[in-house]
Amino acid sequence: MLYEELVDVYEKIGSTTRRLEKEEIIANFLKTIKHKSPETTYDVTLLLQGKIFPPWSDKEMGVSTQLIIKALSKMLGENTKSIENKLASVGDMGEITEELVSNNKQVTFFKVPLTITKVINNLRKTESITGSNSQNKKLNLILELYSSASPLEAKYITRTITEKLRIGVGEGTLVDAISDAYGIDKEIIDRAYMLSNDLGEVATRAQESIGAVKELSITPGKPIKPMLAQLSPGIRESIEEMGEVVCETKYDGIRVQIHKIGDEIKIFTRRLENVTQALPEIVEYIREALPDEDYIIEGEVIATRDNKPISFQYILQRVKRKYDVEKMREKIPLKIFLFDVLYYKEPVAEQPIGQRRQLLEEIVHTSDDVELSTMKVVSSDNVGDAEELFNWSIDNGHEGIMFKDVSSPYSPGKRGKNMLKFKPVRETLDCVITGGLYGKGKRAKFFGSYLLSLLDSQTGEYKTLVHAATGMDDEMLASLTDRMQQYILSTNEQIVTFKPAVILEVAYSEIVESNEYEAGYSLRFPAIKRVRDDIGLDQVDTLDKLKQMIDLQNN
Ligand code: ATP
Repeated sequence: MLYEELVDVYEKIGSTTRRLEKEEIIANFLKTIKHKSPETTYDVTLLLQGKIFPPWSDKEMGVSTQLIIKALSKMLGENTKSIENKLASVGDMGEITEELVSNNKQVTFFKVPLTITKVINNLRKTESITGSNSQNKKLNLILELYSSASPLEAKYITRTITEKLRIGVGEGTLVDAISDAYGIDKEIIDRAYMLSNDLGEVATRAQESIGAVKELSITPGKPIKPMLAQLSPGIRESIEEMGEVVCETKYDGIRVQIHKIGDEIKIFTRRLENVTQALPEIVEYIREALPDEDYIIEGEVIATRDNKPISFQYILQRVKRKYDVEKMREKIPLKIFLFDVLYYKEPVAEQPIGQRRQLLEEIVHTSDDVELSTMKVVSSDNVGDAEELFNWSIDNGHEGIMFKDVSSPYSPGKRGKNMLKFKPVRETLDCVITGGLYGKGKRAKFFGSYLLSLLDSQTGEYKTLVHAATGMDDEMLASLTDRMQQYILSTNEQIVTFKPAVILEVAYSEIVESNEYEAGYSLRFPAIKRVRDDIGLDQVDTLDKLKQMIDLQNN
C-alpha cells in the first residue's frame, strides 16, 4: 500500500478540529483497507498514532532531529546551519522538511513510490543499529526515504521520526474509529485495548472477527499500562463514596509490573521499560516467593536502610543503573511490597480487587524482602481503622494511604474513581518541560527557569502552565541544562523551546486563573521537586487533573 494514501488521510484529519470528523475519516480509511493483509492494518494503526512500535515494546527509534537535518542537508545541498535557523523560527521540523523538499531543484529520475511497509521498516531498522558506523547507517536509511518522498510525504516522515504527528488524534479517537470501521461495540474495543496495550493488534483482530477481539487479553511478557489513582478528598469522604474499601499503605518507591513467562522473569516500570537487569535481587526474591507458574504481579520497590524506607531518589539510582549493578545492590538494598495480581495461570485482572488480593495472599510466600502491602478492609462503620492505618503509615516513613473500591477490576491506563490516594503533603503536578529561559549573571550558561506544560488528553497536545525556577540546587541546574541540550527545538535570544521529553514534579501553593498560559490557569509559588524519569510522556498530568485539583482547592 502506498504511503501517499496514508499521508492523504493525515492531511484530512489535520484539517479539521472536530473530533467526530477525525473519527469518521479514520473509520472510512480503515474500511477501505479491510481487504488488505493484517500486517498492513497493523502498521497503519501504529502510524496513525505516530508510532512505529507498539506501546508495550521497549524499542525506540534511533533518529535525532540533528540526524534529520543532516540527511536533508546532504540530499539538498543546503547547509545545516540554515536549516537549524529555520527550525528556530518555524518550530516544526515537519513543515521545514516539506518546504525544503518542495524547493528541491535537483531532479531525481528513478523515484520509487514509497510504500507504508518501506517507511515503517526503514524507521524500525534504525532501532537496532549500534556501533561505530551507526550514525551513517541510520542516515542512509532515512535518506533513502526522503529521496523517494514527495514534499508532503517527507513532512510526515519527519513528524513520525520526531514523534509529533500534529494531527490531533488521541487514543480515544482511534478506539472509536476502530469500533466504527468494523461495527464492534466501543466497550469491547476499549477493553481489548486496555488489556493488550496494542491498538494495532486490536484493529487486526477486529478485521478478523468480533470473537478474535474478545479473545484478546492480558499476556505475560507484554506489559500493560498501570491503573492510576485520583486524589482522595479525605478519608471519610472517600470511604463513604466507595462503600467497602481496600485501604493500603502508599509506599514511596518505584512501581513495578513483574511478568513471569516460562522460566523467565521480567520487570517493567510504569513507563513499561524493562529494568530486569538493574534489579537482580528482586528477580531472585520473587522467584523464591511465588510458585513456578506464569503470572503478572504489581508492587512498589523501595530502597531501605536498617530496614527503614529511604528517599525515592536512591531507588532511581538503582533502576537506571546499567553497570556495577552488584556494587549498587550492596549500597542500596531493596525490598518489594506487592499489592496486585493481574495474571496467575490465567488472566485475573477483571476480577474485583478484593478477590485479587485474596489470591495474592494465597500465592505469595512472604519474607523480609517480599511483603504484601499493609491492608485493611474498611467501610463507613470503621473509618477509624483507615485513620489508624494512615497515621501508622506516615509514622513508619511511608507516603500516605490508598483506597481501592473492593469490587473494582483492574483498569489499565485509567485514572478512575476506583483507586484514590491520600497524602498529607501539599499536592504536586507532573509537568513536561516544553520551554526554558537562560539564567542571568552567574547562571547565564544554564537554564534558570523552565516552562512547564500539562497534557490535554482530548488532543494529545501539551498546554503551557507555569515557569518554574526555584527548587533546583546547583547540581540539578547543571545536569538538567546538560540533559536538555538534545531536546532543543529552537532558540531565540534567552528563550528556548524543547521537544517534550523530560518530566518535572512541581509543588505549588495554589492554582490561579491566568491569561498568560495555554492551560488558562497557572501555579503560585511553583517549586521543582524532582525529575520524574519513572513515568512516561503519556502520564504527564492532564488538564482534567488540574480541574480536579481546582475543585479540591475550592472545597
Ligand atoms: P504519586 O506521585 O502520588 O506517587 P503517581 O502519579 O506516581 O502519584 P498515582 O497513580 O497517582 O501515581 O498514585 C499511585 C501510585 O502510588 C502508584 O503508581 C504506585 O507507584 C504507588 N503506590 C504505592 N503504594 C501503593 C499501593 N499500596 N497500591 C497502589 N499503588 C501504590
